[in-house]
Amino acid sequence: MSIENNDSTRTELNSLGEFGLIDHLTQSVNIFNKTTLKGIGDDAAVICPESNQVLISTDLLIEGIHFDLTYMPLKHLGYKACTVNFSDIAAMNGRPKQITVSIAVSNRFSVEALEELYSGIHLACERYKVDLVGGDTASSPGGLFISVSVIGEPVDEKTVYRNGANKNDLVCVSGDLGAAYAGLLTLEREKATYTANPNAQPDLESYDYVLERQIKPEARLDIIDLLHENNIKPTSMIDISDGLASEILHICKQSDVGCELYEDKLPIDYATTRTLEEFKILPTTAALNGGEDYELLFTVRQSDYETIKTLKDICVIGYITDKEKGTLLITPQNTSIELKAQGWNHMR
Ligand code: ADP
Ligand code: MG
Repeated sequence: MSIENNDSTRTELNSLGEFGLIDHLTQSVNIFNKTTLKGIGDDAAVICPESNQVLISTDLLIEGIHFDLTYMPLKHLGYKACTVNFSDIAAMNGRPKQITVSIAVSNRFSVEALEELYSGIHLACERYKVDLVGGDTASSPGGLFISVSVIGEPVDEKTVYRNGANKNDLVCVSGDLGAAYAGLLTLEREKATYTANPNAQPDLESYDYVLERQIKPEARLDIIDLLHENNIKPTSMIDISDGLASEILHICKQSDVGCELYEDKLPIDYATTRTLEEFKILPTTAALNGGEDYELLFTVRQSDYETIKTLKDICVIGYITDKEKGTLLITPQNTSIELKAQGWNHMR
């Protein structure tokens, strides 16, 4: 696929013009939701939401800051730009329904490169049954900019905020943690090796899981459905984009409570542990401070324990305490460590 090379399959952006390009990229758009009355093609999209509350979130991704095209294929970038937004809607106990996508590109990119980007966007929309209803297209002096906005609706009108956690609630997490960070480290190592020796063949086979978690994250809408089917409404919820420590601190601060999390309860996949060993990073450090896992962190009432413990892919990792007790991680040796929001940028 050509971004910079001038090969024979390269079609220049200016050969289509802005309108031609928009038509070309959006010709295969499907509409899945009956609440979408008008998608692309007018001055504004028109939606007719079923619920009283509408959830809106947006993200801006900048080349060189949020993604690196040397190891992020454009198709995956398009997919991820969508799923990270879907994850924000999931974190409010909602389902995403529509998105708009705005891009700014330079003529360094070809039509084929943008086709790749949009194939990832279309795939995410198809999988999550979300409608691409509009956007904007502009030129940029160099890098690629992509901004996705998402519109969603809370499940059963039950929006869940960060501020609803109460003393004695159980702290739960979906899936496993630290893998996306292990994937990022692996990709950065390969990039360094490749830069030193462009003939080096990447050896990435045994890293499939962590790489997939980094370049193709999913939004945990399956968890939202699972909780709903089991009549559990979380008291608070957030998605894990900056590491567990930073996210639980958001919940505790906004809910005015403290917490105790147990180190030996943190869900970490064996593939993650094995990869992190090569980088001499402790799995707990990656789970607490590694970014981009896009799992859900939420609290439920004690009375939901019997149900929650039977649900696949959800772990109880601690509980909510009085604010005065602090926000603590309890090690297997029973020492308490104050949780700090280092964030994953700090680790780079
Ligand atoms: P306007 O001049 O009103 O901003 P545009 O010519 O930019 O309209 O866009 C025409 C239509 O195409 C609109 O429905 C707009 O939402 C949609 N659109 C523009 N750019 C994109 C894009 N990058 N992805 C998806 N839809 C787009
Ligand atoms: Mg426009």
